[in-house]
Amino acid sequence: MLQDLEQLIELQGLDAEIAVLDGAIATIPDQIRMMEQQLVQAKAVLDAATAEVEKLQKLRRQKERELDEAGRELKKRQGRLYEIKTNQEYSATLKEVDGLKQKISTLEEEILVSLDDIDRVMKIRGQEDEKVRVTQAEFLKNKQQRQDELQKLQGRLSILRKTRESRSRNVEASLLQLYLRLLKSRDGLAVANATSRSCEGCHVTITPQLYNEIRRNEEIRTCEGCGRILYWKG
Ligand SMILES: [Zn+2]
Repeated sequence: MLQDLEQLIELQGLDAEIAVLDGAIATIPDQIRMMEQQLVQAKAVLDAATAEVEKLQKLRRQKERELDEAGRELKKRQGRLYEIKTNQEYSATLKEVDGLKQKISTLEEEILVSLDDIDRVMKIRGQEDEKVRVTQAEFLKNKQQRQDELQKLQGRLSILRKTRESRSRNVEASLLQLYLRLLKSRDGLAVANATSRSCEGCHVTITPQLYNEIRRNEEIRTCEGCGRILYWKG
């Protein structure tokens, strides 16, 4: 085989692998960002549950204060009942006592309901807390894996780039220019296999005469459809 053609085929192989590695490397930061986003979302749900617990506890404390106050008021009124002189004042105070008893009973009921609510929301918060812990642990583990992978890919990429550079030096300058131009304009494929009687790049059928020339792999021939450099794999 023509040596230049051999070098170009090898270059094409290196460039194809470099393109795959570049693609894989480019996706890793996005993958990490997506995982991080999941963690942020889990934390937001936990924060909302925590806020709900705090709101309910504040409400419960407020009702307990109201209950204490009503209890004190009740005692005051009940004590006063024995000192009252007139019937009118007596029945008015008695009415107040009944009103306070009713209020206390309502508050006690509300506090019980709010304790149930707090239990329920605290259970939810516990579950969300667990979710955050699991998500965080997974995130850290997966992030480390991705970063290790990134390092590995970058290591391989740097070897490929060096190899590519030294191989490029062996190719005649104008041919290398043609190759590089095609690589850029033909979607990363400059050297195409023509073994199946058609161009691997554009699938155009190759004329019998050109096909015979390509089969010899003894000169640089290009595709009539796309201009890619053709070779025969055998
Ligand atoms: Zn073609």
